[in-house]
Amino acid sequence: MERSREIIVIGGGHAGCEAALAAATLGVNTLLITTDITKLGVMSCNPSIGGIGKGQIVREIDALGGFTGQCTDQTTLQFRMLNRSKGAAMHSPRAQCDRDLFSLHWRAKLEATPNLSIIQDTIEELLLETHQGKVQCVGVRSKLRGELPAQRVILTAGTFLNGLIHVGMYHTLGGRIDESAVPRLTEQLVAHGIRAARFKTGTSPRIDLRTINLDVCRIQAGDEEGGCFSYSTTSPSPLLQRPCYITETNPRTHEILRNNLDRSPLFQHIIQGRGPRYCPSVEDKIHIFADKPSHPIFLEPENSEGNTIYINGFSTSLPYDVQEAGLHSIHGLEEAHIIRPGYAIEYDYFDPLQLEHTLASKVIPQLYIAGQLNGTTGYEEAAAQGLLAGINAAHALMGKAPIILRRAEAYIGVMIDDLVTKGVDEPYRMFTSRAEHRLSLRQDNADERLYSLAQAIGLRSATALENTREKYEKVTLFSTHLSQSSLTPESINAYLTAQNSTPLPQAIKAHKLLLRPEVKLDALLSHLPTLIPNDFTLSSEIIHSTETRIKYASYIEKEEQESEQTLKIDTIHIPDTLDYSTIESISIEGRQKLRQHRPKTLGEAKHIPGIKPSDLKAILIAMRSFVPRGTKE
Ligand SMILES: Cc1cc2nc3c(=O)[nH]c(=O)nc-3n(C[C@H](O)[C@H](O)[C@H](O)COP(=O)(O)OP(=O)(O)OC[C@H]3O[C@@H](n4cnc5c(N)ncnc54)[C@H](O)[C@@H]3O)c2cc1C
Repeated sequence: MERSREIIVIGGGHAGCEAALAAATLGVNTLLITTDITKLGVMSCNPSIGGIGKGQIVREIDALGGFTGQCTDQTTLQFRMLNRSKGAAMHSPRAQCDRDLFSLHWRAKLEATPNLSIIQDTIEELLLETHQGKVQCVGVRSKLRGELPAQRVILTAGTFLNGLIHVGMYHTLGGRIDESAVPRLTEQLVAHGIRAARFKTGTSPRIDLRTINLDVCRIQAGDEEGGCFSYSTTSPSPLLQRPCYITETNPRTHEILRNNLDRSPLFQHIIQGRGPRYCPSVEDKIHIFADKPSHPIFLEPENSEGNTIYINGFSTSLPYDVQEAGLHSIHGLEEAHIIRPGYAIEYDYFDPLQLEHTLASKVIPQLYIAGQLNGTTGYEEAAAQGLLAGINAAHALMGKAPIILRRAEAYIGVMIDDLVTKGVDEPYRMFTSRAEHRLSLRQDNADERLYSLAQAIGLRSATALENTREKYEKVTLFSTHLSQSSLTPESINAYLTAQNSTPLPQAIKAHKLLLRPEVKLDALLSHLPTLIPNDFTLSSEIIHSTETRIKYASYIEKEEQESEQTLKIDTIHIPDTLDYSTIESISIEGRQKLRQHRPKTLGEAKHIPGIKPSDLKAILIAMRSFVPRGTKE
């Protein structure tokens, strides 16, 4: 038997990489076991990181000392800040990355981490012992190395447990295409009381750039000024920046796909697992939105040098020939050469209701579970869980307090709380609407929100922490300065008139003027440089954070009051005649779930998976004007 490791991490995907890095960096002797060392941190689907809700998660991972943000910055091919035209709380960073380099950077990082060893092998069994009726995990049995003892095990097997891949009527066991599925592990855990079920997901075909007629596609360029995820990144991605392209499906495409639904494993109910609601396959889209004549197709580069293009919007499990015919009917893709077809995969996941907030199993306390295996979908969600599982497993061994993020503190806190208190009935992905405190949970301030926690955990470098402290000290000083600086009509009215903003009748403090949406701090400072205190150097980050803090202060206060009220609503009765279909502000998912579950109280509604705080607010408002059926004149 091998010498005992303190922690063994099973699986080197996004969850496993963050878990292993965190545990080892905290000084715990860690072993990462993964089926293929050349596939560490591989992006199984679209090589992009971030997006709405997900971008905020990556900023939080970075603020806590994880690596996903830095890895993204080093491999970015195109960066966009989504929702830039909306308020700061909606800004969400997204980057298209070089898939191969992303994985290589993860590998280099892990291989250079002290206290961490990696082996390429597969685990099909945990070493479980029963003492006084309680199951304990004391290690793993690897296919090639045999028994490997450990004090804690973190399981992050992604889509690999009993994975079943579908391309048309062809199906085969696999964790991803051409990678073996892992048998038996689910069955062993189920035999010990862990509940398992099946979900499915899918991916799009990849095509050769040289066979696309780009002249007829629209260009989708990245942000000119670029951008990054990590608070520590100082220089932009070294890679060649590449554009994406947009085309769309048309009635002919839909006809081809529709005519072949008898060969669709999804429509023939061969696929039983439920897929991610917000990422439907193209065959699902033409069925659900039957009246829509077209759907957008985004052509996204997979690497900086090569010619592989990911077709975002065309996830499918239809047969190869149908995928090809469908693609060839699309403007610009008439000659497209498929490098790899799209496919669907069904896989096992474990019920997250059986987890503690630390991600330790309630059934087998030495076992932590993270990532897709907990019913989530997405690299960012997986990486965040891996980070927290790694920290908490290490803390348990070090006798340190567990790290549990509150819902008001981080999207990661919202996600883990949703998972372990509501469970999942479909793959869970993050959205800003899942958070009660979304005005404070912004992508720009994750470093501020999580500063004390990051300090307590100790993964973030001392320099990064010191930079954060200095930055927000300056933000506070500058905000105070603006709240004390008077602006006279003579000094500012010419500027206001140019901005179509009402001129001032009398002097006001600068921070009051900033409450006007059309008044921007950087423009104000360009007009009135004397507003900058002497000996004060202002970076664009500090200007942005100061402005956001001032503009959002009153809204955040209101949001906090509202969420305090929401905590008190649990016992409020919902009339069983309330018609959810008439409450427009409830999300589609919320409406379906409420109709299905018919909760009796708002407290019951709150615990239904997929019901968001905004849905509860919508019900409350609707109930105020609700007239029970039969009482209307
Ligand atoms: C076909 C497909 C399409 C997808 N589409 C999307 C999408 O559109 N949008 C989206 O957000 N997400 C999508 N995903 C999901 C996304 O890939 C996952 O959410 C994310 O990769 C999960 O990270 P993870 O670390 O939990 O697992 P994974 O990234 O799956 O990594 C698991 C790792 O564990 C290893 N492993 C598994 N079992 C063992 C074992 N017993 N012993 C040793 N090693 C093991 C595997 O080799 C792998 O390296 C898709 C996934 C697939 C497969």
